[in-house]
Amino acid sequence: MARKPLVAGNWKMNLNHLEAIALVQKIAFSLPEKYYAKVDVTVLPPFTDIRSIQTLVDGDKLLLTYGAQDLSPHDSGAYTGDVSGPMLAKLGCTYVAVGHSERREYHAEDDELVNRKVRAALKHGLSPILCVGEPLEVREAGGHLEHATAQLIAGLKGLKADQVRNTVIAYEPVWAIGTGRVATPSDAEEVCAALRAALADKYGAELADELRILYGGSVKSGNISDLVKCDNVDGALVGGASLDGEEFTKLCAMA
Ligand code: PEP
Repeated sequence: MARKPLVAGNWKMNLNHLEAIALVQKIAFSLPEKYYAKVDVTVLPPFTDIRSIQTLVDGDKLLLTYGAQDLSPHDSGAYTGDVSGPMLAKLGCTYVAVGHSERREYHAEDDELVNRKVRAALKHGLSPILCVGEPLEVREAGGHLEHATAQLIAGLKGLKADQVRNTVIAYEPVWAIGTGRVATPSDAEEVCAALRAALADKYGAELADELRILYGGSVKSGNISDLVKCDNVDGALVGGASLDGEEFTKLCAMA
C-alpha cells in the first residue's frame, strides 16, 4: 500500500507567537499547494503559539496542519501547568507528539504514562505521534529492535485495531536527536520494518500496512531523500531543521 509521507516539524521550546506566524507564513509561501498532494506537512509549536497558528491556517485556508508536543492524560481538573486533549482539539490540532525522548528523559515519562497520553489523544480525535527509540548504550549492546518494539507495544497497550488506526509512529533513536548524527537509511529501515512487523503481529497486516512510521533524528534536506526511499520509512519528525523556513520547505519538497 502506498502511504502518503508525513513531515512533522517539532519546534520544541522555540519561537514566540510572532516568530511562529512568520515561520508558518514562510512555509506557506514557499511550499506550493501542489506539494500537499504528495506529502502531509504539520508543525508542532509550543502551546503558546497554537492559537496564532490556528488563526493563520483557518484564515488563509492553508493546507498545512498543526499540533502540540505533549498533552495531559487527564481531560480537566487540578493539574497545574498541564494542557488537555479537549483544549488541543478545540484549537484545531490534528497531531500531538507523545513520548518524545526529551519528555521521557526530563519529565520521567514512562511507558505507562505514555500509553495514557496516547489514549487521551485518541479519545479526543487527535492523532498521536508515538515516539520510540533507543539510547546509544542500548544500540551499542545490540538491543535496539527489542527496545523500540517494547516501547511501541507498551505505548499502544489495551488499544484495539480500530483505535490505533489514527496513530503515527516515530522511530527516533535518542543518539540521533539534535546530535547531527543521522541514522543510516539501513539502520532506520531495520527498526521501522521491525516496528511494522510488531504492528502486524498485534493488529494484522492490513492495519500495519496503513500506519505511517516516521524516522526522526538529525533529518535535513540533504539526507531526507535517502531515508524516505526505505520501504518502511513514511516521512520524518524533524527538530532543528524545522525552525528554518527555507530548509524545512526544501526538506518537505524532497520527502
Ligand atoms: C526531534 O526533536 O524530534 C528531533 C528529531 O530533533 P532533531 O531533528 O533536531 O534531531
